[in-house]
Amino acid sequence: MTTMTARSDAVLQIAQSHRTFPAPTSDIDAIYGCDVFSLEILQKKLPKPVFRSLKAIIRKGERLDPAIADTVACAMKDWAIEKGATHYTHWFQPMTGLTAEKHDAFLTTTSEGGMINEFSGKMLISGEPDASSFPSGGIRSTFEARGYTAWDPTVPAFVIGSTLHIPTLFYSYSGEALDRKIPLQRSISALSKQALRILRLFGNQKATFVRPSVGPEQEYFLVDRRLAALRPDLMLAGRTLMGTAPAKGQELEDHYFGAIPERVMAFMQDVEDALFRLGIPAKTRHNEVAPGQFELAPIYEDANLATDHNMLMMNILHQLAPKHDFICLLHEKPFAGVNGSGKHNNWSISDSEGNNLLDPGTTPLDNAQFLVFLAAVLRAVHMHSAALRLGTVGAGNDHRLGANEAPPAIISVYLGDMLTDVIDTIMNGVTHKTGRTSMEIGVSSLPPLPVDRSDRNRTSPFAFTGNKFEFRAVGSSQSIAPVNTVLNTAMACALDDIATELEKAVSGGASLTSALQELLPRLFREHQDVVFNGNGYSAEWLEEAEKRGLPNLATTVDALEHYGIMDIFLRQKVLSEREILARQEILLENYAKSIGIEGALMLEMARTRILPVALHEQAEAADVAGKTRALAGEAVPEEERFRILRGHTTGLISAIANLEKALATLHSAENTHQAAHSARDAVVPAMGACREHCDALERIIDAQAWPLPSYAELLWLH
Ligand code: ADP
Ligand code: MG
Repeated sequence: MTTMTARSDAVLQIAQSHRTFPAPTSDIDAIYGCDVFSLEILQKKLPKPVFRSLKAIIRKGERLDPAIADTVACAMKDWAIEKGATHYTHWFQPMTGLTAEKHDAFLTTTSEGGMINEFSGKMLISGEPDASSFPSGGIRSTFEARGYTAWDPTVPAFVIGSTLHIPTLFYSYSGEALDRKIPLQRSISALSKQALRILRLFGNQKATFVRPSVGPEQEYFLVDRRLAALRPDLMLAGRTLMGTAPAKGQELEDHYFGAIPERVMAFMQDVEDALFRLGIPAKTRHNEVAPGQFELAPIYEDANLATDHNMLMMNILHQLAPKHDFICLLHEKPFAGVNGSGKHNNWSISDSEGNNLLDPGTTPLDNAQFLVFLAAVLRAVHMHSAALRLGTVGAGNDHRLGANEAPPAIISVYLGDMLTDVIDTIMNGVTHKTGRTSMEIGVSSLPPLPVDRSDRNRTSPFAFTGNKFEFRAVGSSQSIAPVNTVLNTAMACALDDIATELEKAVSGGASLTSALQELLPRLFREHQDVVFNGNGYSAEWLEEAEKRGLPNLATTVDALEHYGIMDIFLRQKVLSEREILARQEILLENYAKSIGIEGALMLEMARTRILPVALHEQAEAADVAGKTRALAGEAVPEEERFRILRGHTTGLISAIANLEKALATLHSAENTHQAAHSARDAVVPAMGACREHCDALERIIDAQAWPLPSYAELLWLH
């Protein structure tokens, strides 16, 4: 069977295709933020008092005065129409998928039979999308399908194409959060409130709020569109469900930071232009570890805005790839045996004056304040590590966490030698390094800590890198809202505990310094178990972590079982009990559905693409072996090929039958919990068995006859 296949056609086409050369980088100054309805534009377009009250809303999170809404709406509409917009949309971030939008024309008819562009304050402030198909986890039954969108003035509106995008929050008729932004914003308020209590104890009366900043590093794969079209798994599941490792993978490490292929470069510049227009500060671009894998990182921003920007970034990566004959894969594990994709979530907190509270500072008092925030981080991660794991759940990320390329599902903190030494000194009054004997909090200075810009310990899920923490367990396809919601909430709880204790000591007459000298060593001792500077990929760490009592929630289902008891959300008023349970339901359902889709896809591909080819090859091999044997008059080595083919072909037939059974169990599950368990315990292993036979067949079957583009073709053809 050596006919020209669609696959070799595509490969030839790519090899011979005309190369696009990167356009020169556009004039960033001219385009940066040009499609954003920014504060500067608002200031120009709005009457002074209206602008002032809108600014107060944005800066301090005050309530919107409906009286000003009409004025803002009118200015926004005029600006958008000037930019070429004909439509507007209430843009929101539902609990699954990326973002949602439904476009409405500004156009409306008049009683005189004419047409005018209309956009009122009411249309700006609230919307009622036909929301019955967005997940609500039972909060909203379909007969009560109403979900509402409310304008979120804390992030700017923007134009993409011919549509004005108005960022909104999405909630139910009864006022419950149906999106990812509402809990995030509640968590930011909670963090601010608790952090300010600490700042006040240190005599800071000036700061009016504290906010988290985030810089998410986005990894992704690019695969040629013509090859991807021949792989239903890539098209429908965003990852390959089968495929053998290429002869050359990432072993030589010649891809990481290597020269960026020209076609990829043209794509990256196109993406950057689109990002710049939306005021998204794209900063770094480079090749990642795996062939075909790349990274794009922006400069960090306010967490609320960074979340929107990361969503837009993912949308733009998807949308612009086909223009360059690529598809962009944001899946956490598109290729088995090849590095997966993550999203390092760089997180810090700063006050309204711009002071980074995770920066050690220079004076003993600054140092002491830093140590309080550091202790709070350790407490937050130690006490709420199960909650942090929740920020990273998803069927895709399960392939990645703990797979020797990403941190394990055990959440620990890496502090580096210097800081660990400081903490040891504080706890025990001893030091590992010569020249330093004791550390009196609030009196002595910390030694200068290096800003660790390199990923020195890539194996840690939560690493201190000089003035920020880098949370590395987030998956590349995931919204950063959930993980930051948990981080902020856990931190708010820890700061709450610490502030309560310090306030009590100080109001009882103790000095802050003596209260700290009593509290900090105790806290560091209490939470020492969460600190781990060693190799997070090692088997010893799994054992050690268990001894230390750190949870290892290896799968999404394990992690979600803990959702019901997440009192930190209740305590900080980030999620109500009903909202928590709804989210648990949605995430479990999403997991079960994703696995269900992959399982069905695997079944179809194995049965209708792989098995026919395998049977054909087997018959041919039998023919050859039989004829050769007849001629030779004795056993011949050609029979061996037949035996191997037959072994895997019959193996595949029974694996297909098992997968079908597993899928039936999943589909007959009585509730979401049961479905998620069937997905994990029945469907995933059954898919694994199918894959084993498919991959073994791929290694032996005539390459010309194999119906799917190979890993080598997918990973190396750029
Ligand atoms: P790398 O981790 O690749 O060595 P950096 O540490 O310089 O690179 O930055 C990675 C990301 O962290 C970038 O998005 C950067 O803007 C962001 N970042 C830098 N400083 C902070 C900070 N104080 N708070 C939050 N994010 C930060
Ligand atoms: Mg980094």
